[in-house]
Amino acid sequence: MAGVELLDVRKTFGPVAAVDGVSLTVQPGEIMGLLGPSGCGKTTALRLIAGFEAPDEGRIVVGGRVVAGGGAWVPPERRHVGMVFQDYALFPHLTVAGNAAFGLRGMRDARRRVQEVLELVGLAGLADRYPHELSGGQQQRLALARALAPRPAVLLLDEPFSNLDAALRCQMRHEVRSILKQEGVTAIFVTHDQRDAFAICDRIAVMRAGRLEQVGTPQELYALPATEFVARFVGASNVLAGQLVEQDGLCVATVLGLLPCHPACPKGAGQVAVCVRPEWFQLDPEGPFSGIVRTVLFEGDAVELVVAVAGLGTEPDPEREITIRVSTVNPPVPGQTVRFRLAAPYVPVLADSAANGAHTTNGAHPRGETASHAAGIPGESAGGSGVPGESSSRTAAHAALP
Ligand code: ATP
Repeated sequence: MAGVELLDVRKTFGPVAAVDGVSLTVQPGEIMGLLGPSGCGKTTALRLIAGFEAPDEGRIVVGGRVVAGGGAWVPPERRHVGMVFQDYALFPHLTVAGNAAFGLRGMRDARRRVQEVLELVGLAGLADRYPHELSGGQQQRLALARALAPRPAVLLLDEPFSNLDAALRCQMRHEVRSILKQEGVTAIFVTHDQRDAFAICDRIAVMRAGRLEQVGTPQELYALPATEFVARFVGASNVLAGQLVEQDGLCVATVLGLLPCHPACPKGAGQVAVCVRPEWFQLDPEGPFSGIVRTVLFEGDAVELVVAVAGLGTEPDPEREITIRVSTVNPPVPGQTVRFRLAAPYVPVLADSAANGAHTTNGAHPRGETASHAAGIPGESAGGSGVPGESSSRTAAHAALP
């Protein structure tokens, strides 16, 4: 029995299809991320599951029970769904213990459960404080404790880190994942930040304009993005056009030369586009590719090079810029000619780029963020999610097919 199922769910607001035929299965105990740009429908999906909105079409199942659709309607307070909001929504007049106990009124063993959840989130020593006497991270943990206390069937988290500074956000990612896993709760985590999603979620559903673009593990999404949209949203990417050719296995002839395709690619020929993450290239004096370094951007933990490579006659452009991420130890300087090679065994083929004409990019994230640290490499995650019911999405491995 799934933790949560959305079956062809649709919700419109006037002319806007906020959620447009979404089917998604979240397994019991799984942490599922809903990731996507502003306005793609993440919060609406969460509100539909919580019962704050009713779907126009489709069905929503929580813990095996239909809670909305097909004539059924279970009100929010009877869905056994917990929520952690962006602003925590703590009660200022209640102590830490009072906040944690809020959902336990009338329950046997409430006092023991409060103690248990406060220990779980590391606030047992602060039970008598008030919310304004807590740090941002402590308030965040209290919001989590309050939501977990009644042992909800599903916990929904809506951008819970948006009020935290960068360092605390990093720390909370690991804490929250560890707490959710200790409780074994099924959770859905909404965010527009791929680093949050990668660090916390078992699988991630990438949303675009109300639909699911791709569902997969963080490693699958990063190593095998199905579309250019996903490739760019979950990290920096070079998107290169090319021609599929058979040569010691399937390859794509690109501006750089032949790049080996992921084994899941279809046999045959045709114009396609591939995604190459900047760190999948490696500087190597013996490498098959060469170019001139145009810019060098120091990022602290790495250096990003923009390298102009001469075209090889496979494309109309005489020159292309490729982004390469290298170590901060002795990086090249602008104007230097460098040789490099592909360190990854395969590159994924994107489903939607060829028709538009692919191009290289400096990897700018839709919200201006840079590449992910979760550097899965192609070939490591060949399997799809294997989860049924994701009809409006593409699972990671299979969807990488044009
Ligand atoms: P954000 O990351 O900015 O919170 P989101 O991905 O959560 O965005 P939603 O809040 O679900 O997106 O909104 C999806 C679309 O539905 C948007 O175009 C939004 O303007 C619209 N929308 C959401 N709620 C309503 C509403 N109550 N009335 C009208 N339109 C709405």
